[in-house]
Amino acid sequence: MGLPTYEDEKAVELIDARVIELLKKMLEGEVGRLDPYFDPNAKYGYSYPDANVVLKRLHGEEVEVLELLHKLGYLVGTFHDKVYLCPFCQSHHLHLRLSCPECNSTDIRQASMLHHFSCGHVDLEERFLQRGRLICPKCSQVLRHIGVDYERPSRVWHCNQCGYIFQHPVESFHCHRCGRQSSKEQVVEKRIMSFTVSPEAAVAIEDGKLYDFKYYQVVSDGLTQLVNMSYFREQGLKEVARSVRYGNQVTFVLIRIVNFPELVSAYGQTEAERLFRDFAQITNNTLRSCDLVARYDDVSLIIQLPETGPDSAIFAINRISYNLTRSDIWLEFTDPRPVIKVSMVSIPEDAKDYDELLKLLEERIETSGLVVGMTEQSGAGR
Ligand SMILES: [Zn+2]
Ligand SMILES: [Zn+2]
Ligand SMILES: [Zn+2]
Repeated sequence: MGLPTYEDEKAVELIDARVIELLKKMLEGEVGRLDPYFDPNAKYGYSYPDANVVLKRLHGEEVEVLELLHKLGYLVGTFHDKVYLCPFCQSHHLHLRLSCPECNSTDIRQASMLHHFSCGHVDLEERFLQRGRLICPKCSQVLRHIGVDYERPSRVWHCNQCGYIFQHPVESFHCHRCGRQSSKEQVVEKRIMSFTVSPEAAVAIEDGKLYDFKYYQVVSDGLTQLVNMSYFREQGLKEVARSVRYGNQVTFVLIRIVNFPELVSAYGQTEAERLFRDFAQITNNTLRSCDLVARYDDVSLIIQLPETGPDSAIFAINRISYNLTRSDIWLEFTDPRPVIKVSMVSIPEDAKDYDELLKLLEERIETSGLVVGMTEQSGAGR
């Protein structure tokens, strides 16, 4: 069993007594298969009323609980439907937008074309229409018989704004929640499932695994090398106590992507999360094995550097800075670039206990945090 991760902590918040009650009711047959029902107000456009009788979540958020249980193997999922979500705000309120490839206007309509055989003129059918008759606008002959005088080659699109005639309109999606536009390639796919209970759920409840969820390893993805904040705090308290007592130095570093919300709105949630994962991994890979990195919040990491004073900590920060500025983060996310700030606090010089040092880290990153990649100078908010 590994250390609990940030995802575990989120999972801990989701798993409560009601979740266990739901699994029990499913195992006893009191609640049957959980089918999704279309619900425009729910998070992904579907809610699970049968689950929600027990779970009592708002706005279709029970789907998160059910997906977690599915991931853990306590529910078995079968495909029901697929929805597409806005890559910027995850809303399912997407509206298909067909527009002119020339001027991007949505003021377009389907029209039919006409080809006059004798003079070769091809134009919109409406341009041939005069008082109920078809008259060629080029040679003024009357067109009488389809297949003899003329043919209709194809349906096309016509832009009322710029007059452009085209075969395929540009397809994009307009989000009714955040107002942004995305392409077919950008929208996020989401599978909506029906769920039944698995035998593993019975075992997990019997073993008390679900009750003691906190120490149960759930997710192993890009962030697994990071520990969670409660473990970090435990270790931090020990280090600080040791340092105050015996005088060995320890330095704590806070490193934050300060413009993360801007990155989300520029690149979308999925890309921004990938960036954070890379950021976490690069930082973690740069450090020594005795150093400890945790995910501090949605936009920051916190690092513990044991046996490290302020001067050596700056070397570590510069190494992180060096690796980040040479990574894909800097190559791919160019407009805007991620803005990463760092602050540091050394024990015993700067603070006497763990809570004080956290406060100081926050203060320093606000007031004088060093911007990574902008300068190789030392300082880091000291
Ligand atoms: Zn003609
Ligand atoms: Zn146009
Ligand atoms: Zn949106």
